[in-house]
Order: sequence, then structure tokens, then C-alpha cells
Amino acid sequence: MPAMARPPALAAVFLLTLGTLASAQTPTRPAAPQLRPPTRADILRGEYGRHRANNDLLSYHLDIRIDPDTKFISGKNTVRFRMLQDDTRIQLDLYANLDVDRILLGTTPLKYEREINAVFIDFPETLKKGREYAIDFHYSGSPRETGRFGGIRFRKDPAGRHWINTACEGEGSSIWWPSKDQWRDEPEHMKISVAIPNDLVDVSNGRFIAKTDLGDGYTRWDWQVHYPINSYNVSLNIGNYVHFGDRLGDLPLDFYVLPGSLEQAKAQFVQARPMLEAYEKVFGKYPFQKDGYKLIEVPYTGMEHQSAVTYGNGFRNGYGGRDWTGVGVSPKFDFIIIHESAHEWFGNAVSAADVSDMWIQEGWTTYLEAIYVEELFGAEDALKYINGYKTKVRNQQPVITQRGIHRSPSQDMYFKGALFLHTLRGVVNDDERWWKLMRDTYQKFKYRNILTEDMVQFFNAELRLDLTPVFDQYLRRADLPVLELAFDDRAGTVAYRWRADERAFAMPIRVADRTAWQTIRPTADWQIMKTPLGKDTFEVATDLYYVTVVKQ
Ligand SMILES: [Zn+2]
Repeated sequence: MPAMARPPALAAVFLLTLGTLASAQTPTRPAAPQLRPPTRADILRGEYGRHRANNDLLSYHLDIRIDPDTKFISGKNTVRFRMLQDDTRIQLDLYANLDVDRILLGTTPLKYEREINAVFIDFPETLKKGREYAIDFHYSGSPRETGRFGGIRFRKDPAGRHWINTACEGEGSSIWWPSKDQWRDEPEHMKISVAIPNDLVDVSNGRFIAKTDLGDGYTRWDWQVHYPINSYNVSLNIGNYVHFGDRLGDLPLDFYVLPGSLEQAKAQFVQARPMLEAYEKVFGKYPFQKDGYKLIEVPYTGMEHQSAVTYGNGFRNGYGGRDWTGVGVSPKFDFIIIHESAHEWFGNAVSAADVSDMWIQEGWTTYLEAIYVEELFGAEDALKYINGYKTKVRNQQPVITQRGIHRSPSQDMYFKGALFLHTLRGVVNDDERWWKLMRDTYQKFKYRNILTEDMVQFFNAELRLDLTPVFDQYLRRADLPVLELAFDDRAGTVAYRWRADERAFAMPIRVADRTAWQTIRPTADWQIMKTPLGKDTFEVATDLYYVTVVKQ
């Protein structure tokens, strides 16, 4: 999803404070906001406990009917799974305000216990390790709109017709359908069947299969997802949509917008193809070939719904019509088309296995924006663009949060995550190796749910470096590393060292003269180098590495 276009009022105060402190010799930070302890609901939602870990999802078939007038959903999800342990209970999730009508194993009704938004399902006999089972989870009710994009929203379009959309990454899929609402396990494939009044269109994820007139004023729309999918990515887009299309080789590009937006959309969505080509060049083929690529107009900013990217940026460049990074590059392209589609590679194909590591979604995707800029507009613009993100970083909390609690990390996961990857490019300092690493990382982890440790291990092996302290300092600590420089003009030397929370932090960095940078390898201990340059003329390549520099 996109970062917040405008920080909340509290954040604005912190940014101002940081602004005044930035000029001081010793940077200090305002105290980090206190995190409240996790609630039972946070743990039920976030923990990959025994009754989730004992099974592996194989497929879902979500088959529902939606009455837009009464905002009522009813239907079932058929959940197929393989047991990984012998057990008699599994956990699925459904918000407490929705009714469980019945849960069946074949024709046998199953007992269940609800706790907040979790549903613990009990089986009369032990489910055996290695065996596959399928249950039908029937439910109904009127979902509650909540969260940034509403989770599920029943709206009207400008012509007064029904317009219903889901966007539930934070709130979770269980806000509108029964599912294993966590990040570690994805079904291998999924079918989505949605019955709606005849005059409406549903665009969901995957490949359109068929629509069937049910004879009672309703039509069922069937979509087939051929790949693993995060549950929060499963989406409904119901409205008076019109369609136009394009192709990228044998990949269909399908666009769905309201009739009044058609001409604007035809002009704006031409940006989709060169964006896809740029990412295919760097990372490899679009990940969801069999499902196609879609852009769908919605009444919120946008979301990376897998193979059904939703768009609400007003058919304007920038983000909400603004120069998003403030350096004159963002007005060259439509932020939402690029950001949300880049998630097809990172977020959807490569996914974090816990919300704690959501920078794998958002830091990478923000970095992919800079890759797009480099591919389309050149390296100079890309450098400007990525460094423009520095003004958005707060450095108050680590990017990676506590595991097992469903709590979104701070917005630093976007900007600091991207600047961290940019910094690693500075460390590698060899573009050929860097682009190979980008491609190899994607190819290694596509269609998988991973944690940061997996990525650290892969980077270390591929680069034959120990980058663990660098990852840890940037992602598991709040503060930036500080490069301390102490000049002795009479001796013609400068002493240098890192001040960082990670004692082993020893990142190489380029310094001295920008026409012929020298690479130094500072550690936590002082080292001395000769330099004809003084405090005012000795430079650090701070546009290639995201660090704080203190000179004395
Ligand atoms: Zn995003």
C-alpha cells in the first residue's frame, strides 16, 4: 500500500523538531513514542501458534453473495489444507461481528470456539499429519467499515450507483471473509466467486473465468487465482466498471474504470506497460502471467491487490497531485501506478512472513520506485528521487518490530527501508554485481514468504561479505550510524570511526574528494588517514550512503 501522503499531526511536530536539531553537532532525538503492550487480539491475530502451524493451506474457494442495498454478505469459504502434525483443532479467523453459520467437514457439522476475531475449529477425530482435508466455513453478516481504507466499503460512485471495494491489509482479510488471517501461510491457488445484482461488475484477483446469470436478479462472477496469494490481497471491486485493454507480449493488461473516467484513464494508464517492462528487465518476468495484470479504479489512494492493482490517484502524476519526494522527479510519473504495481514483485511474489518484517513489502517497493526512475529517466534523477526520501524518515523506532504481534511497523519501513537498500548499493559499489544481486534475490525468493534473516543470509552468501551488523543497525535499531571525523590540520590527518549501536558495524564508505572518492573501512575504533583536505572541504558520499556525519 502507499505510505501516508500526509503525516498525522503528531508526526509533523516531530519532523519540525528534527529539522531544528539537524544542524546541531550532536544529533539527539525526541523520545520515541511509547508502544502500548500487545493485546490478546494482537496476539491471536499475529502469533503463528500451534493451531496455525499444524497445517499448511492448499486452496480456498470463496463463494459469496453480496446485497449492496443491505450491505450484507453471505456464503462460504472452502478451505483445503494439509496437516503438518496430528491434531484435533485448527485456527481460522473471522471478525466477531460476523456470524458463523456452520462449519462442515463433508456433511459433518464441526464444533468451534470463538475468541475475539479467532475461530478455533474442533474435529471429532484426530487429523493426521500428511493428510489433506477440506472444510466449508459458512458465514454471514454486515461487515464493519474500519481502518485507513475501510477494510470493506459500500460506497456510491459519482453517478449514484453502488461501488463496493475491499482494502484490508492492516485490518486483515477476516474483516470480511473467514480465512487463515496471518502472513506466513498462503494457499497455492484460489477461486473467488461473487454473486451481485445483474447490473454490476465484480473485478477480483486472478483470471476471469465466467459470469453466470443465477436467474434471481443476481449474476455470479468467477475468478481463478493460479498462484499463492496473501489473504489481505484478496479483493472485491464491485461497480459500474467499463473495460479497456492492452498487452505486453502474451500478458493481458486489463483496465477497469468508471465510465466517466474512461478518457482520462486511457491517457494515464499508458504508464503501465513501460513500468512492467522496466521491472521485467531488472528482476525477471511479471510474476502472475496466468492471472494477467489489472488496474482498477477505486475511491481510495490504491493498493497492490495481487494481479488486480487498485488505483485512486486521480489520473494525475505525483502522489495526490503533489511532488511526493519534493525534488522535481515525482511529477514525471503516476506514483500509485508505479508503487502499487512494483509490489507484484516485492510484497506479492516475495512476501514477508510476519508483519514485523513488512519492510520486505514496503522498503523494497519504495526502492523499486527509484529503480523505475533510473530505468526511465536516468541515474541522476534516481539519485535525486531516493535522497528526497530522507526528509520523511524519523529514526525513532526500529524498522523491524516485535514478531508475532499484529502491528504495522512505522512509516520508516518505506523510506528508511529504501534508503538502506540504496546504501547497500553504495557498499557493493559495482553496478553489475548490484543488478545481479537484485535479480537473484527476486528469483530466489519469489512465491515465498520470508523473514529478514533469509535475506541477510542470501546477501552475505552472494556478496561474500558479512552484512549482518549493517542490516541490524539499519533495521533493528532506531538510530542511523554516525561517521565521526576528527581533523588535525597541523598533522594533515583525519581520524574516523563509526558510532553505532551494533559494535561490529564496519560499513565501508566513500569519503574525501567527490571527483575521486576514497573508500575507507571505519570500525568502532579510531583510525587515522592522511588528507590534504580540511574540515570544510573533506566530503562524505552522503547521497550514496544514508548516514549521519559529525565533524570536529
Ligand atoms: Zn506499498
